[in-house]
Amino acid sequence: MKLTFLGAVHEVTGSCTLLEACGKNILIDCGMQQGPDLYENCELPLAPGQLDAILLTHAHIDHSGLIPAMVAQGFRGPIYATEATRRLCTIMLRDSAHIQEFEAQWRNRKAQRAGEPPYEPLYTVAHAEQSLSQFMGYPYHETVEVFPGISLRFYDAGHLLGSASIYLELKEEGEVRTLLFSGDLGNQNRPLIRDPEKPPQADYVVVESTYGDRLHGPRPDYVGQLTQLMQQTFDQGGNVVIPSFAVGRTQELLYLMRTIKEQKLLRGHGDFAVYVDSPLAVEATRIYAAGLTDYYDQETLELLAQGIDPICFPGLQLSVTSDQSKLINEDPNPKVILSASGMCEAGRIRHHLKHNLWRKNSTILFVGYQSEGTVGRKLLEGAERVRLFGEDIAVHARITNLAGISGHADRDMLLDWLENQKEAKTIYVNHGDDEVCDTFAASVTQALGVPSIAPFSGDEYDLITGQCTAKGRIVKLTRQSDGRRRANSIYEKLLSAGKRLLHIIEQSKGLTNKELARFTDQINALCDKYSKK
Ligand SMILES: [Zn+2]
Ligand SMILES: [Zn+2]
Repeated sequence: MKLTFLGAVHEVTGSCTLLEACGKNILIDCGMQQGPDLYENCELPLAPGQLDAILLTHAHIDHSGLIPAMVAQGFRGPIYATEATRRLCTIMLRDSAHIQEFEAQWRNRKAQRAGEPPYEPLYTVAHAEQSLSQFMGYPYHETVEVFPGISLRFYDAGHLLGSASIYLELKEEGEVRTLLFSGDLGNQNRPLIRDPEKPPQADYVVVESTYGDRLHGPRPDYVGQLTQLMQQTFDQGGNVVIPSFAVGRTQELLYLMRTIKEQKLLRGHGDFAVYVDSPLAVEATRIYAAGLTDYYDQETLELLAQGIDPICFPGLQLSVTSDQSKLINEDPNPKVILSASGMCEAGRIRHHLKHNLWRKNSTILFVGYQSEGTVGRKLLEGAERVRLFGEDIAVHARITNLAGISGHADRDMLLDWLENQKEAKTIYVNHGDDEVCDTFAASVTQALGVPSIAPFSGDEYDLITGQCTAKGRIVKLTRQSDGRRRANSIYEKLLSAGKRLLHIIEQSKGLTNKELARFTDQINALCDKYSKK
């Protein structure tokens, strides 16, 4: 019974942890690295074809984004998630695959011109589709047998629709251990979804620490802030442009906009229009609105009981085609434009910035974290000009952010969530920036009196003895890479396929003699074919 930390260790993105128990290899999350990479993550110590299952905490790409890459390399096992996570993944993994294919096309055009070998996408839409067929969606709190000896339960993590903490019970050779993964834990009092709930005591806990070194302060008045900002901007005849993350944040903003409209908080602009200009955000909004009642908070359920759609209102325009997108800028009336990407690095938001940044009367409102080096960060730091579509655009619009809006629990909320875990043998801290992980681990030990460790990539722990059985190599990257794991070479893929074959052979013991003989013949035929060369 072993736990190996792979990704999102001393970093925030690329969540991935390997559990080996009852003869099975199981990944908890399989996320894509986003933004600059600080440490080199060690590779998965087995071929993806040797994986038996993936357990997924939530749909964000930094937790789910490499699942289709595992499928592309031979993973055919089940993927366990909540039903809402499964549905959100149907759009997010397809969208991610489109981005991979698009990037590969663009790189290949460059490679061709430079006479370089072709670049292969990390995965394709077909791989994403295949992975979706391996998903199984479950409700919160149901005990699910993953394999004999291994069962799981999802608890609401309050971070995104369907987001979950995963509680595992492992029985191996008469020993029983329980293991809890927090997943990303949400902030309190978010629109639409419930606050994080506290799962029962476990022997070992893996907890995130994104904001493990800070406090969010008193709960901000989002509706009040938004109303004031829209009133000022609309009075001047300008637009409010919101670069927003398509899944989650956009729907929360729609909830706030509906409140503003319903309570008639804006003077003189009661019929204001709100455009959602991001195909992914529009699809996500449809999933949010599709009656996933098990996942909504009490307020949302009460609205539904009164026949009110919590994220829909008169004046809401869901535009999809790029022609419809262009028409938005021809509408002279003051309006709200919600568009992706949230950090202004890609997508249709860039068109809306081009049309509004130079206008003194418009407002660009940020509603989420802006990574270093992104257009969003530059704007927030007061850039006077930015480059979009090869054009220098002067920044005259008001640039501001919605104070206090965050999708993650702060330090005290994380410690409060750990209240039930005082009897844990060890608490592992991951999913936080380099120093934040260590700072939060120290806070945990101090507050709970439980040994707490922030592991590095490759660190391996025996869950029976609780001992560290292997240490990963700590490789701090000096050069910023784009973070994504490179597509393997064709030869590495062959090697991986070979390991998968061996894994299947090892699991074929129970087959009939006839089946075994046929399998052997086919392998020998394959070997004969290639050993001649
Ligand atoms: Zn997340
Ligand atoms: Zn995350």
